[in-house]
Amino acid sequence: MGARHSGGSPAPAWRNWARTQSATPRTVVQPRDLEELVRTVASTTARGGRLRAVGAGHSFTGAAVTDDVQLRLDDLAGVERVVPLPDGSAHVTVGAGIRLRTLNAALAARGLAMRNLGDIDVQTLAGAISTGTHGTGARLGGLATQVVGCRLVTAAGDVHEVSPTHDPELFELARLGLGTAGVLAAVILHVVPAFRLRAQEQPMALATVLADLDALVDGNDHFEFFWFPHTSGALVRRNNRVSDDVEQPLSPLRHLVDDELLSNGVFAVTNRLAAAVPRAVPRINAVASRALTARTYTGASADVFVSRRRVRFCEMEYALPRAHVTDVLRELDGWLRGTGEPVPFPLEIRFAAPDDLWLSTAHGRETAYVAAHQYYRMPYRRWFDAFERIAGQVGGRPHWGKLHGLDHARLRELYPHLADAQRVRARVDPTGTFRNDYVDRVLGPVG
Ligand SMILES: Cc1cc2nc3c(=O)[nH]c(=O)nc-3n(C[C@H](O)[C@H](O)[C@H](O)COP(=O)(O)OP(=O)(O)OC[C@H]3O[C@@H](n4cnc5c(N)ncnc54)[C@H](O)[C@@H]3O)c2cc1C
Repeated sequence: MGARHSGGSPAPAWRNWARTQSATPRTVVQPRDLEELVRTVASTTARGGRLRAVGAGHSFTGAAVTDDVQLRLDDLAGVERVVPLPDGSAHVTVGAGIRLRTLNAALAARGLAMRNLGDIDVQTLAGAISTGTHGTGARLGGLATQVVGCRLVTAAGDVHEVSPTHDPELFELARLGLGTAGVLAAVILHVVPAFRLRAQEQPMALATVLADLDALVDGNDHFEFFWFPHTSGALVRRNNRVSDDVEQPLSPLRHLVDDELLSNGVFAVTNRLAAAVPRAVPRINAVASRALTARTYTGASADVFVSRRRVRFCEMEYALPRAHVTDVLRELDGWLRGTGEPVPFPLEIRFAAPDDLWLSTAHGRETAYVAAHQYYRMPYRRWFDAFERIAGQVGGRPHWGKLHGLDHARLRELYPHLADAQRVRARVDPTGTFRNDYVDRVLGPVG
């Protein structure tokens, strides 16, 4: 049986989760195995076409957009191999199209877990690593830092098994490169023994958080905080490893009230109200931030990291040198109060260790991530432009999957290895099969 094709008629229009991007691919192909994937890539290149793999469509940017061949890897999504290591960790080979939720469950069933995760689990593994998706933890890196090998199909239809010791330059672009090295067919992850986390959430004055920031960031395994614009209140979240015998789950009722009603249900209502009456946003945010309460619970790591995000939003996120985060937040506070810009969504502030991945937003520096959101039915342009200008003053690097306005000229100044990435692309994709407008803008054209 052949790959599932959309046939001769145009494929149905595609749009991303945030409704910021859309596309009408000429064909949609869902290969059932590696051979079909190879055939699809090779034939697209042979006729001078363009191809983009798409994951869950959770990027806000046009990273996955194509008007030619759209590739879906839902059938390359299984656990292929588990190699236990002496310290209890393991190398696990999985199909690159696997959703993080399925991956987490498959790992848990084997007593294993990802070292760190972001705040949702609906993305594909390939999509998440390709844009530098990250969680929080000053001693930890993003998801791509947990990758130790990739199976990649390059433009000519060649299959490469790459790793830090086998074609390390291609490995660099394969594990975090917006799909420009080729199509990821499988990924090898270094995963750790399953662990439990205690989550402590606590409202705190923003000024106190900023005054104690280093202690909070360095004194917890995973620290983050949320801050509602126009208020001086924050919600801090500390997730720390606990031994297995500590059991303190959230009651089902509290879970329902906090996560379903307050975070999603009531939050949806306050955002609709904000869209209808923008000048009421400072008052809405004041009420929302006063409604935050403390709670503590424990759970399996993946369950604690991940939450449901049902209120749709647009997002811009900048990776800043950690030492500048307090100044940036104060300047954002000044701008928001000065302009009265209606922003009903909280900012989210997270942290990461420096790493050495060529295109990682945390490359070579201790990093603080500041994410600005806007309800998807409200204008975001002025807010994001101001944020981008302020983040730019301290050398901020935009998340590859979230809205931003930078191009490759500026990004070359921010990434010492961007020219190396272009050199590798020219080697493995000389005619530009994996190009699209977004990739041309941020990395520069090849082909
Ligand atoms: C509600 C929400 C919450 C989020 N939370 C976080 C968070 O906590 N932390 C964070 O850092 N980001 C977060 N993001 C951003 C998100 O993780 C990234 O945008 C991620 O890339 C989305 O994965 P996806 O599977 O949807 O990939 P897509 O957006 O569909 O694709 C992303 C890129 O990967 C490429 N790609 C996909 N599959 C392959 C493949 N097989 N081979 C090669 N390239 C491929 C695509 O071509 C594209 O360039 C969030 C986004 C949303 C909407």
